[in-house]
Amino acid sequence: MRCGFCLPTCPTYALTGRERSSPRGRVALARAVAEKKLEFTPAIKEEAFFCLDCRACTTACPSGVRAGEVMEMCRSQAHAFYPLGKMGKAFREFILQKMVPSPKMMETSMLPTRLYQRLGIQWLVRHLKVLKLGPEWMNKAEGMLPELEKPLRPQLPDIVAARGEKRGRVGFFLGCVMTLMYPNVSRNTVRVLTHQGFDVVTPKDTKCCGAPHLSEGDRETARQLALFNLDLFLAQDVDYIVTDCAGCGAALKEYEELLAERAEHEKLSRFREKIRDISEFLVEVGLRTEGLQEVRARVTYHEPCHLCHAQGISAQPRQLIRQIPGVELREMQEASWCCGSAATWGLKFSQDSQKVLDRKLDNVKASGADILITANPGCHLQLAWGVRQAGMPQDVLHLMELLGRALPPD
Ligand code: SF4
Ligand code: SF4
Repeated sequence: MRCGFCLPTCPTYALTGRERSSPRGRVALARAVAEKKLEFTPAIKEEAFFCLDCRACTTACPSGVRAGEVMEMCRSQAHAFYPLGKMGKAFREFILQKMVPSPKMMETSMLPTRLYQRLGIQWLVRHLKVLKLGPEWMNKAEGMLPELEKPLRPQLPDIVAARGEKRGRVGFFLGCVMTLMYPNVSRNTVRVLTHQGFDVVTPKDTKCCGAPHLSEGDRETARQLALFNLDLFLAQDVDYIVTDCAGCGAALKEYEELLAERAEHEKLSRFREKIRDISEFLVEVGLRTEGLQEVRARVTYHEPCHLCHAQGISAQPRQLIRQIPGVELREMQEASWCCGSAATWGLKFSQDSQKVLDRKLDNVKASGADILITANPGCHLQLAWGVRQAGMPQDVLHLMELLGRALPPD
């Protein structure tokens, strides 16, 4: 329709003011390529990767155009039109096809980083500011690292039994970033679920959901991972499949489309019917509030793009926050505006990312909250880093960590 309703919602259009960096412009370019009116030029490749895939335009579009997903496809095409050199290709294939799909390899790869932190090398590197001499992305990536604990996956029992009156049995999809970087978040998710009366089954063989592959244009590896997870979770005797990672949830809900020609329709719809984000799930089944302890805090909520735009989940996290005794929710302006993380976007376009983040942090400051809540590890890393850099006092927590504070001690 070219109505332009999407323009004011697009962070890259806000940054550049360029039509080609807007959802409408991007879709027009992709369409011209599909209709063979335009070659797949370097500028189209650039726009495909400059799109945050935040899906804010999808929420705004009255015709249901999904520019973010169109750009995901263009990234796939970009690799065909502009193949990487031998070394670049081998490195990319190793990371996306070997390392990320292997939970064990991912866990082993974090060992040197844990040692780097434990042995005080990180302290030295930060104080001597040596990374300022290298590329900007490296300095930012290092600065974003949270204090790493041991991965959660090997520590979580296969089944954790429900507490109190049992209400059901859920499969827990433990995301890669959660187990490696935010084990405390998923530990709290399991605590919350069991306190709510659910047995929690965590299949240890779970592989990456495929979101990083979709974002990097490797749809084939994403399909293989999706097929594996589909069979793994359908073999469990569970009523629901729950995740605490907005990015994983969005990817899992898109398996139906991703695997449309590769898996039986019946299996795909059975899987889709069971997938829930944790906040969506808790509101649907009804949060049991008896026994919740008071948490005195003023909190504000940043909506992860992959929760509000990709999954349409916006009211549920707020409802849960309001149900925690003692918590005051202070809405920030533009809560659903991207934080500038978007997988590797925040590292590839670090200066643009900083501008998007600054806008978010101004809104956090104005809210007057002491705690900034989110529900996605990518946002968590970016916001926690931004808050530290800006010398702001707010703690950044996942919603399940906040809810975990209200639970009685185990
Ligand atoms: S993508 Fe949707 S909102 Fe944007 S111009 Fe086209 S029809 Fe309008
Ligand atoms: S997904 Fe986000 S960055 Fe990409 S075109 Fe849509 S609004 Fe813009």
